[in-house]
Amino acid sequence: MSRNKQFKAESKRLLDLMINSIYTHKEIFLRELISNASDAIDKLNYLSLNEEGINRDDLKINISCDSENKTIVISDNGIGMNESELEENLGTIAKSGSLAFKKELEEDKKDDVDIIGQFGVGFYAAFMVAKEVVVESKKYNEEKAYRWVSDGSNGYHIDECDKATRGTTITLYLKEDTKDENYSDFANQSKIEMLVKKYSDYIRYPITMMVSKYEGEGDDKKLVVEEKTLNSMIPLWKRKKSEIKDEEYNDFYKNKFNDYADPLKVIHTHVEGAVTFDSLLYIPSHAPYNYYSQDYEKGLQLYSSGVFIMDKASDLIPEHFRFVRGLVDSQDLSLNISREMLQHDRQLKVMANKIEKKIQSELKKMLEKDREEYEKFWSVFGLQLKYGVYNDFGAHKELLQDLLLFTSSKEKKLVTLKEYVDNMKEGQDVIYFASGEDVDKIDKLPACEMVKDKGYEILYLCDNVDEFALQVMMEYEGKKFKNVSQGDLNLESEEEKKEIEEKKEENKDLLETLKDALKDKVSDVKLSTRLKSHPVCLSADEGISFEMEKVLSQMPEGNPYGMKATRILEINPNHPIFNALTSLYKKDQTKITKYASLLYDQALLIEGFDLEDPMAFSNAICELMVEASK
Ligand code: ADP
Repeated sequence: MSRNKQFKAESKRLLDLMINSIYTHKEIFLRELISNASDAIDKLNYLSLNEEGINRDDLKINISCDSENKTIVISDNGIGMNESELEENLGTIAKSGSLAFKKELEEDKKDDVDIIGQFGVGFYAAFMVAKEVVVESKKYNEEKAYRWVSDGSNGYHIDECDKATRGTTITLYLKEDTKDENYSDFANQSKIEMLVKKYSDYIRYPITMMVSKYEGEGDDKKLVVEEKTLNSMIPLWKRKKSEIKDEEYNDFYKNKFNDYADPLKVIHTHVEGAVTFDSLLYIPSHAPYNYYSQDYEKGLQLYSSGVFIMDKASDLIPEHFRFVRGLVDSQDLSLNISREMLQHDRQLKVMANKIEKKIQSELKKMLEKDREEYEKFWSVFGLQLKYGVYNDFGAHKELLQDLLLFTSSKEKKLVTLKEYVDNMKEGQDVIYFASGEDVDKIDKLPACEMVKDKGYEILYLCDNVDEFALQVMMEYEGKKFKNVSQGDLNLESEEEKKEIEEKKEENKDLLETLKDALKDKVSDVKLSTRLKSHPVCLSADEGISFEMEKVLSQMPEGNPYGMKATRILEINPNHPIFNALTSLYKKDQTKITKYASLLYDQALLIEGFDLEDPMAFSNAICELMVEASK
């Protein structure tokens, strides 16, 4: 007799939740157990491709129920589990579904019991309806069979047992009926038939049950018992699109890919040609909890003529669409293909290519036809697309550029590059952009004011990757991207140009003195043509911009090549501060050095940089205030 063992702490919490849940859809337990059985048969089916002696024709799931004794038995002739697998798989919380479920509960959604039913909560769901669960299993190609027994709350124990055939048999001893819940109902034949039809119809192996029914009329009427296959066995992706309800697509997704929310979009396609395949792809409506961690694995489930081959064929999905979940089934793939071989498989490459194009065109369609939906998508996965443009030196720019959205200065709405270009002013030959932490902050940047004032639209870039992506793209429809804080903007008229040249000449010495005072900090001090009401700003020369410099210095390895933007201090010649400088210069040149530092520090603050010496800045301001009061 084996020792009783306790569930791992986290599993116990989940079990408690499950058992005591007031959740009404307890019926999903059957869907979960059938889905596990089907996975176990999938695994065996896969082995059978390379091993002799497995009869693929008799693979099935059988259910029997006994309404008198209130038991349900679900058995499969799949791969089975040995002692350590029983321990590992049923004693601890499962890796996939249940864990995601647990996370979700921890994230402030504790009250939302409805979530439970939507998740693939797996094996544990059995304890929603059963007071005791017995799992007997015999692993393929092994001699011994084992029995795992648990009541869900007091741990479990595993013993050797007798079991003649390969696979797993799960017996549920249903809970006593309460006034709210008729557990014994689940042991009812017609109830089981209904549940299989409702949740598991697409399972590709027969789900059978001995069903009794009356045949004949009058005195000839007799009760006959026969085996009945309860499911239609047509995988969802093999059915006609027009005959599939949204709900079926969504339920299939939630159950198969362990999500509690409906997907944002379903893409179901049948492709014929060089390679023939069916694909059922989903764009989730939210990022999985581990999406931004190393744990997240991209990839599609791969089937070859309905035989499950692998779970995450990562070569089928490009990095920039890594959020897409789903499956592909093809008759053209060789059945005994290995993961390594897949990488070089020509057919697979063709499929991957078609899938990539399909996702792109569906997203584009969504963007054009259902903007609201697309913006929802964009808020969740837009960043991924921008990285996609940047990665691989812009190799995917053609594919992705028309899917990008940026906030525009005009209505603070998201626009596409195409929309921006179509709205350009006559004679405008560049796409203006400005970068910063958020839209409000960018909108206040001094360098934006004049550009906006002249009637140009500016794209506001708030994500770290944005400028890098634009830099890789270089241009869109022949229009170069232009940072409003960099280089010459050439916004002024000939007359204004002349005026500024004259002012420059007049104040040559002052500018030289300022430049000299700041020689360690800036490469130049200039009269600005980009400022309207603000006194000063920092601009950068072409090349690295301020935002890029900030991003680079935040990198884990630090700014690798010490790449910095070339700083230029620009002074607004039409601002009273400039008059103040010119008159001060005439009276007392020594003060100019101090003023130069102050102006530079102000420009740094406006640009969102830290001051190099905040104390000195504060002292200088105080000094000025004291002087002003004299
Ligand atoms: P999940 O299916 O999400 O991994 P479960 O809690 O449902 O989580 O199951 C845990 C694991 O137990 C499965 O991954 C599988 O390895 C094993 N298992 C469950 N049911 C069976 C079965 N009928 N046959 C073989 N293995 C099973």
